[in-house]
Amino acid sequence: MLIDGHGRVVNYLRVSVTERCNFRCQYCMPEKPFSWVPKENLLSFDELFKFIKVAIDEGVNKIRITGGEPLLREDLDKFIATIHNYKPDIDLAITTNGFLLPEVAQKLKDAGLKRLNISLDSLKPAIAAQIAQKNVLSHVLEGIDKALELGLKIKINMVPLKGINDSEILDILEYARERDIRVRYIEYMENSHANSEIKGLFGKEILEIIKTRYTIKKIGRVGSSPAFLYEIAENGYKFGLIDPHKHDFCEDCNRIRLTAEGHLIPCLYFDEAQSIAEAIKDNNIDKATDILKDVLANKPKENRWDENQNEDSSRAFYQTGG
Ligand code: SAM
Ligand code: SF4
Repeated sequence: MLIDGHGRVVNYLRVSVTERCNFRCQYCMPEKPFSWVPKENLLSFDELFKFIKVAIDEGVNKIRITGGEPLLREDLDKFIATIHNYKPDIDLAITTNGFLLPEVAQKLKDAGLKRLNISLDSLKPAIAAQIAQKNVLSHVLEGIDKALELGLKIKINMVPLKGINDSEILDILEYARERDIRVRYIEYMENSHANSEIKGLFGKEILEIIKTRYTIKKIGRVGSSPAFLYEIAENGYKFGLIDPHKHDFCEDCNRIRLTAEGHLIPCLYFDEAQSIAEAIKDNNIDKATDILKDVLANKPKENRWDENQNEDSSRAFYQTGG
């Protein structure tokens, strides 16, 4: 079992397989970064899997593949199948922008994938294009339909932004409710890579908008999920709210992140990271295990997105996987 320096059990690994992306979301990567990590610095899927095995053997039972846009990485389905075949009962999921799903959803399902989180910030083509800086909506909606048709479990992530898509909070809720999909509203997390003009909504502002149509009841957090669940009294639909500015979910944080280059990051908002790349390339599993434990020993108690201070993180979400 993996336990961090604050006594929390860590059983969830998020793996970013690429920092590259086919979108340029205003809140994440508004411009193509000046330089991408050169391809040769990325860990191969075999190398990433070597570390994943270490983590699974030490007690990780939940893995999420993310990015950048994970569906851009070639042979992702084979990577998924390798993890699934090593431990078929692992809770294995992907976070994606959904654009490439119409083509790859079937392959991912055949590889053993059961769950996907898909980002959907708008149902209006022009607004979706303004946020992603590309005409994306029809592909994303087609991707959601395809995944549903295949019986994959889906959640939708929306980041509400002031004056851009905040008028669609209820539209996205109805879209998700009609399809029996859970939507999770994520507070915009300030970071120095985003477009400096944009502003997010705090959780309480998101709830106020939903309350203009519905009565909402608090349910609570399920397990270590960062999402606080609410139920709509009128129809029983449940939605989630992720509000890192309150950081009360840090108390139960069970996660650690691995980047495509092999950096092991203990918290999304924390500059300390250690690389497992050399240990993995040298096949030095003991060293990789020691680094994992050391990173956990230094996992901070809570993030630093404070509602009152509104600090910026220097970490890029497209590198860490959000
Ligand atoms: N490209 C995939 C996608 O967009 O779903 C996976 C990577 S993305 C970094 C993972 C999640 O982080 C997405 O749901 C995205 O909306 C969210 N995200 C990115 N930047 C964010 C920010 N500044 N604040 C809050 N959420 C953010
Ligand atoms: Fe790409 Fe996802 Fe970041 Fe948007 S949020 S730019 S889709 S990595």
